[in-house]
Amino acid sequence: MNTNMLKIVSLLQKQESPLVFKIVVILLGVITAFLVVFIISRGVFLFFEMAFVEFFKKKQFFIHFYFRKKKLSQNYRLILKQEFSFYNKLNPIERKNFEHRIQYFINNWEFIGKEIEVTNAMKVKIAATATKITFGFRDYKIQCIDKVVIYPRTYFSTINQQWHKGEFNMGYNALIFSWEDFIKGYAIEDDNLNLGVHECIHALHFSFLKSRRYNTSAAIFLDTFLELTRDLDADDALKQKLISSGYFRAYAFENQFEFISVLVENFIETPSEFRSQFPNIYGKVKMMLNFNFAGY
Ligand SMILES: [Zn+2]
Repeated sequence: MNTNMLKIVSLLQKQESPLVFKIVVILLGVITAFLVVFIISRGVFLFFEMAFVEFFKKKQFFIHFYFRKKKLSQNYRLILKQEFSFYNKLNPIERKNFEHRIQYFINNWEFIGKEIEVTNAMKVKIAATATKITFGFRDYKIQCIDKVVIYPRTYFSTINQQWHKGEFNMGYNALIFSWEDFIKGYAIEDDNLNLGVHECIHALHFSFLKSRRYNTSAAIFLDTFLELTRDLDADDALKQKLISSGYFRAYAFENQFEFISVLVENFIETPSEFRSQFPNIYGKVKMMLNFNFAGY
């Protein structure tokens, strides 16, 4: 037994020990009471919010609330201002919230370069892409991702023996990008191709499927998408127009997952054209992402 342990034991053996125990018991009681009240209040809040989302309006009671807002460091903010046009479309309050969330991703995701050095610009642009597509939700953390792997250009996947530009790898909890192709997604901002947005939506979709039962952000995203697919099933002419217009690339019609990702790529890149060609579908995607900022 070391000297510190002996001191504690002798302290407890002294006459005052009942008082020490009383204080400890009272403290534990107070902490437990606070925890119980917190857990019950949170449960009641989430119950009412879920009922509101499911039966009244697809809106969360609040989106942004942080005990301590993280400040983005100056060099990251500079990259954001100069190289991420979406950020400049936000108002000052939205920018602060946007920066907080970018800093969260930079702090919590591991960025791994494969034959390439990870730069600040890579971290900022990837984190900003994830922040952009989740900015309408309170639950923005994309829980199924904990790392980002970056290759300089297209990479060969030994899993399916194919060359890839990027992917969401659910087994590895990772977003994987060819940096050359990630950058191309932003080089032309209105060609409806954005690798970063595409893969982030796959990850978000997967993460929401897992948390739908208790997560109102997931409920808004998935239930609105379900409404959209029902609308399309009920309107054959609209469905045909969607396919024949050529506005959405053919890959959208591979399956539901690709459909969601391509819908959002088009929504982000060419909102005006989307709205004028398919106003109802545009409205649904806007509702699905709760995207009520930056002029959308
Ligand atoms: Zn895809």
